[in-house]
Amino acid sequence: MTDPSTISKGSDWGYAPAPESTDHIRLKSRYGLFIEGKFTPPASGKYFQTINPANEKVLAEVAEAGEKDVDRAVQAARKAYDKVWRKMSGRERGKYVYRIARIIQERARELAVVESMDGGKPIRESRDIDIPLSAAHFFYHAGWADKLAYAFPGRKVSPVGVAGQIIPWNFPLLMVAWKVAPALACGNTVVLKPAETTPLTALLFAEICQEAGLPDGVFNLVTGAGATGAALVKHPDLDKVAFTGSTEVGKAIQKSLAARGTKLTLELGGKAAHIIFEDATLDQAVEGIVNGIYFNQGHVCCAGSRLFVQESVEEEVIAKLKARMETLIVGDPLDKNTDIGAINSRAQCDRINDYLRIGVEEGAELFQTRCTVPGKGFWVRPSFFTKVAQSHRIVQEEIFGPVLAIQTFRTLNEALEKANNTPYGLSGGVWTDKGSKIFKVTRGIRAGVIWANTFNKFDPTSPFGGYKESGYGREGGRHGLKPYVELS
Ligand code: NAP
Ligand code: MG
Repeated sequence: MTDPSTISKGSDWGYAPAPESTDHIRLKSRYGLFIEGKFTPPASGKYFQTINPANEKVLAEVAEAGEKDVDRAVQAARKAYDKVWRKMSGRERGKYVYRIARIIQERARELAVVESMDGGKPIRESRDIDIPLSAAHFFYHAGWADKLAYAFPGRKVSPVGVAGQIIPWNFPLLMVAWKVAPALACGNTVVLKPAETTPLTALLFAEICQEAGLPDGVFNLVTGAGATGAALVKHPDLDKVAFTGSTEVGKAIQKSLAARGTKLTLELGGKAAHIIFEDATLDQAVEGIVNGIYFNQGHVCCAGSRLFVQESVEEEVIAKLKARMETLIVGDPLDKNTDIGAINSRAQCDRINDYLRIGVEEGAELFQTRCTVPGKGFWVRPSFFTKVAQSHRIVQEEIFGPVLAIQTFRTLNEALEKANNTPYGLSGGVWTDKGSKIFKVTRGIRAGVIWANTFNKFDPTSPFGGYKESGYGREGGRHGLKPYVELS
């Protein structure tokens, strides 16, 4: 049998390179802010570079929005809200949202390639998951635009107003869709701030809004780093703030909005537990674990970053997991065979490496696959820790990288107690042949989403969100409309 580790090393048994073409990509060398339907330069004249984390090459220069620009964007959103969008019938609004969905589909190939270039995720994921799901969110919400009265029967439904939305770098376009689609469908206007390291698909989305003929000022984009986000949150004329990102920044936003009437939803970090019982189909479970933590380099808030294996199958699960991990191909995000792409930024790569060091210092045992990684860019080999304790930082804190912490349990109650023992409550997973155990685990874990015998499955009709320090509010489904409407 071929040693699986050689597959990713390009041996005779490895796959030939299959890079996705970039010939059709026409990025501008410099992007302005998108305010009132037009790309405009920032008041300060300052720009920053966005790079490809797989080779550290500069992709484009992007405007850095300051307070004045944010104010201009919020004013444009207010004007569009008062003069056009709030007055438009749901039926008409739905047509625009639908048109955006169609253009995302038409430009899917371009969007997928740019997403992988700017953020480092494998093309297979951006092509098969991020971009189709982004279109699906707009299609789904286009359907709600004229049916809000049915979503909230017996209530009068009106929009909230101007929404300030801030998103992270792990699913750049998909997070745009999660935020913008429900806001527009419900009659709100938007000022959005993407992450500093992944602004490009949000900028292409601004072009898509132009192409869809969306009235000026309904969607505005202010690029920049954390300070731009803070300026947006501080703006007094916002009716609603929606934030996805770290728990730390989420708490700061909550403080800065204290004593203001601004509505707030927070989608924050996670430390999801997978629980594998001895009666599970182990090969399927191992596939789910791999998908749960190594998918998107572990840059997933609901990543299955803690694994609890029933003691009787521990050795078998770990052996299967190691063998499967050795087949994972780490490398060029644009190669269609790649399983694990580049870490999103140098800062994130350093942070993951810090946790790998901390885990070893805490006394845990580290396993990493033997794959080679490219010389340039930011990479972490798929890793897991065994011999970990509940109190270890690698068990309690979110690493946001391809690093799994493995523990064992004997009884269901012990598994639940350990699974609940973190400040987070975003997601979880259970693997078993017994329906009764699935129900006990899903009732026993305090988390917004729990997958049974599968993991990381998303759909626009299904609400997503957390408990505890993972935030509050839901995105997706009928629940996800609520933060964007006033009910009377
Ligand atoms: P982050 O540092 O909190 O950044 C998120 C966004 O907030 C970025 O656009 C960031 O700008 C901006 N920001 C930074 N400081 C700010 C401030 N003081 N005021 C307002 N905005 C500010 O998070 P991250 O490290 O980029 O993303 C990873 C985190 O997101 C993880 O903890 C992950 O669990 C969480 N996440 C949660 C979900 C969910 O649905 N629950 C989904 C995805 C990610 P810059 O990036 O430009 O600095
Ligand atoms: Mg980038």
